[in-house]
Order: sequence, then C-alpha cells, then structure tokens
Amino acid sequence: MEPLHRRQRKIHCDPDPLRQNATLMMLVRNFEINDALSSMRQIEDRFNRRYRYPWTFLNDEEFTQEFIQLTSGMASGDTEYGLVPKEEWSWPDHIDRQKSRASMKKMEDDEVIYGGSLTYRHMCRYNSGFFFNHPLLLKYDWYWRVEPSIEFYCDMNYDPFKLMKDNNKTYSFVIAIPEYPKTIPTLWDATQRFAERYPKYIAKDNAIDFIVDDQKGIKGPYNFCHFWSNFEIADLNFWRSEAYTKYFQWLDEEGGFYYERWGDAPVHSIAASLLLSKERIHHFADIGYKHTPWLRCPTDDESYFSGRCLCNRHENFDEHVYSCLPKWFQIAGK
Ligand code: GDP
Ligand code: MN
Repeated sequence: MEPLHRRQRKIHCDPDPLRQNATLMMLVRNFEINDALSSMRQIEDRFNRRYRYPWTFLNDEEFTQEFIQLTSGMASGDTEYGLVPKEEWSWPDHIDRQKSRASMKKMEDDEVIYGGSLTYRHMCRYNSGFFFNHPLLLKYDWYWRVEPSIEFYCDMNYDPFKLMKDNNKTYSFVIAIPEYPKTIPTLWDATQRFAERYPKYIAKDNAIDFIVDDQKGIKGPYNFCHFWSNFEIADLNFWRSEAYTKYFQWLDEEGGFYYERWGDAPVHSIAASLLLSKERIHHFADIGYKHTPWLRCPTDDESYFSGRCLCNRHENFDEHVYSCLPKWFQIAGK
C-alpha cells in the first residue's frame, strides 16, 4: 500500500468533445515560477478545472525540471513547453545595433518604463509578430494569454472560447488604457503610411474611433488608447492573416521595436481596431482581473454575485480618468 502521507493526484480525463481548439498560453521565465503558479491556480480554480484546456508555456530559455513539474502539477489538463527560436528573440539583421543601444540609453535616462531593456523589446516584438506561429501553437485556433502574477477574481461559469466562436468574435479584452507616448513616438505615423499603402486591409466598420478621437479617421492623431494585452482571448488566425502579417512586417521594417520601445499592446490594439470590424471585438464585462497596478471588477449584480468575486466592485479602474473604456462604449454603442 502507498504510504498515507503521500499524495497522488492523477485524474484521467478524455478531452471534452465540446471543447474548442484552444490553449491557455504563458510566456514566462523560470524565476517567475511562483507568480506563474499563482495565476494558474486562479484560472484553474475559477474556470479551467471544469474544462481542462491545455496550457502552453513559452520561454526564450529552456524550462527547468522544477518549473515543468510544478506547472504540470497545477494544470488540470495537458501542458506543453516550448523554446522561442533564437532568431525570433534577437535584433533582426536590418536593425542598427548602435542606434538601438543609443536609443535604450536615452530612454533609460528619460526614465521611460523598461526604456533600457533589450529583453523587454524582444518580448514585445515576439508577442507582436511570432508567438502565434510557434510550432506548439500552430495546432490551435484560440489562445488565452495569461501572465504571471495576475489576479482572476470571479468564477467563469461558461467557456469564453465558445462565447468568442459562437458570437463571431476575434479579439477580446478586459482593461483599456492609454500607452505611454514616449514608447511609441512614430508608431502611428508608420501605421498611417501602412493604411495608405494597403487600403484593402482596412476593415469596413472598424473600430478606428476607439483609437482616434472626434471621428477624424486615419488622418487624425492617435489617442494612445489600447487594449491591455496582458489579458487576451483571441483567434490565432487573425494574427496569422495576410493583413496582420503585412502590418507586422511593415512595423518590423520600421525598426520601432528597437529604436523606440513599441509594445505588443498598442500594436495588437491598433491592428484589431483597423483590420477588424468592430463587432469582432469583445469586452469581457463579467471578468474580475488585476495586472499590477490596475484592477477591475464586474459591476453588474448578476456577474458580481454569481461569480463569487473576491474584488471590491467600487474599486474599479473602469471609472478611473485614465480608462479608455468609455471610448469603447461610445463606439460599441453600450
Ligand atoms: P509588463 O506586464 O509590461 O510589466 O511586463 P512583464 O514583465 O509582465 O512581461 C510580459 C510577459 O512577458 C510576462 O508573461 C513575462 O513573464 C514575459 N516576459 C518578459 N520578459 C521576458 C523574458 O525575457 N523572457 C521570457 N521567457 N518571458 C518574458
Ligand atoms: Mn506583466
């Protein structure tokens, strides 16, 4: 007989045939193990233990055995661990390294957040242009991006992937917030030139009014609003589409991931706002979520009380002056 003080927690379960072709995805470093487990624990307990969607972990270095053991133990379903190819996590050839280094130095002196970090830039570029074509992700249609150290405050009593699919949604968000202008001085200019060069990729009835005020359209200035991409549930095929592939290549040629510090959040958000019709973007008003330093909590009674939420709905980033959610509601007709 097994000694009584040891535990074996292996439950076999066939995949649910109603499950979507989806994965929970985390780009993460080995030292973030505790924060990764904390995020996983909440997503598992609040949602995934009833669905057992597989987890996919990506890293620019090999995962340690400890990381693999602990995260596979926390997951209710399968886990896979992938390495980011070196060439997708380094300066591309056309980048002038001297100029890139000088820009990092200057942004660091200017106290721009992550201004001096090269790895942060690799990460932003990877999340903008590559993760969706990682060999481990190619078999999936949908992903849910999870970051270490987030809080997920309420039960999710339905399958958000199925909600996305059934309602013809492509991209989704919880929090909308302005980007730091100093990280993207020329991103909008590059985007305007892209739109001029490739008008065929700009969707009819798109969400440009979320990112440009006063109905000024593509010629107007960017208002810096973006969907906070540390949470995303989205269709991988959108990022793999010709339109987005061209957009990413265009931006990558510009060099702003390195000469400035373009984030994947504004890149994803501008792309979703221009290349998709606005009906394809979903706001999860029923999710309670925190990524430091901001949190939001569902405010409607039904979501709040049915979700066993552990957040205070009166403490809510949605009502903060910085929140771009009112702009979203304006255009989404809420
Ligand atoms: P912030 O949310 O903008 O403050 O940036 P984070 O430090 O949270 O990074 C965003 C995501 O990328 C998180 O999931 C991190 O774990 C991951 N990440 C950031 N830098 C690296 C890195 O150098 N290597 C790996 N493997 N993941 C990284
Ligand atoms: Mn983060």
